[in-house]
Amino acid sequence: MTRWRSLAATTVVLVAVGAPAEPALARAGCFDRSTEPYTSVVDSHVHLRPFGGRGIPLTEMGDYWRRTGVRYVNIYGIGQILPADSPCTYYLDCPGTPVLPSMRNDLDNVHDAMQTKIDGVRLTLSMTFPDLANPAGIVDGMRTLDAAYPGQFTWMGEVNLIKQALLPNDAEPATLEDIAAWWPFMDELRRRDIPITIHSDLGNDADPLKYLYLMEGVLALYPNNKIVWAHMGLSEQLTTIEPRLHIATLRRLMDQYPKLYLDIAWRVLEDNCFCNEPTREQYVPFLNEYSSRIIPGTDFVASRKKNFSTYQEELDVTSKINKFVSDNAFRNIALGQSYFDLLGLPDEAPPICPA
Ligand SMILES: [Zn+2]
Repeated sequence: MTRWRSLAATTVVLVAVGAPAEPALARAGCFDRSTEPYTSVVDSHVHLRPFGGRGIPLTEMGDYWRRTGVRYVNIYGIGQILPADSPCTYYLDCPGTPVLPSMRNDLDNVHDAMQTKIDGVRLTLSMTFPDLANPAGIVDGMRTLDAAYPGQFTWMGEVNLIKQALLPNDAEPATLEDIAAWWPFMDELRRRDIPITIHSDLGNDADPLKYLYLMEGVLALYPNNKIVWAHMGLSEQLTTIEPRLHIATLRRLMDQYPKLYLDIAWRVLEDNCFCNEPTREQYVPFLNEYSSRIIPGTDFVASRKKNFSTYQEELDVTSKINKFVSDNAFRNIALGQSYFDLLGLPDEAPPICPA
């Protein structure tokens, strides 16, 4: 008997999307962790548009996903783009060049998704255009996208609340006053049950909780919105936080705000926290306990400077933590159940075979 509902039977929302192919399970009806891949079937955090320069075409990305067994993908733009005439492809290489949110990459993404047949992968399009420090036009922007592409955008993000790496490029961090002015678009998101992925640095190595008040401000004002906190608040500027302090902070917020989710995308997490055994041993019980609200991703930025092996490596690195979590957490995170529940998909991850 299989408790796993056929993925092929689920309703397809996007025009461009094929039903995810059902993976062949080595043992009937259950997923065998001892023989099957530990890499996640969900990549909830892919930036299809680079910061600047040429990108990787969606058809080619579709091939990467099929070859790596990724069957559910969130397509993000990039929350900050370089001017079209800039020779720069990465904002950190060109301080002083302004990077600003724009609707351009959301439009490029939806055009691509509607014109490209991607077999075996379910795409979720996300609105990345909002400028959280200047929220006045966000609802209008959502209406513009909806009028042109009804029902196509079912996620918002990754949007930047505070991203220290962008400060040299004139990015304006949002203030508590700005956050209070988010209510029109946050109301709209809540009404339509659309999750929002927010990049908000927890702090930096000198002051690990420096910006916590911003995320707490968002959660306090919008406790009924589905909010996904990107990278658990970590970044290249915060790599030495004491795990006990980080986990206690996350635990307090997860307990207080049941609609808060964590995104564990980006190799910064593996490289600084999960790869080191004593540190990992502190994170694993936390991930196990809150796994129904944790979603995986690569944070791959599809710049033409990268190729299949780059994607494969980023998927592998960001999935390594899956090897250490409980069966229940593996099913929720790696096999996608938390993501399905967050998006309200009818899909069901397979049960894990008994060891
Ligand atoms: Zn990202």
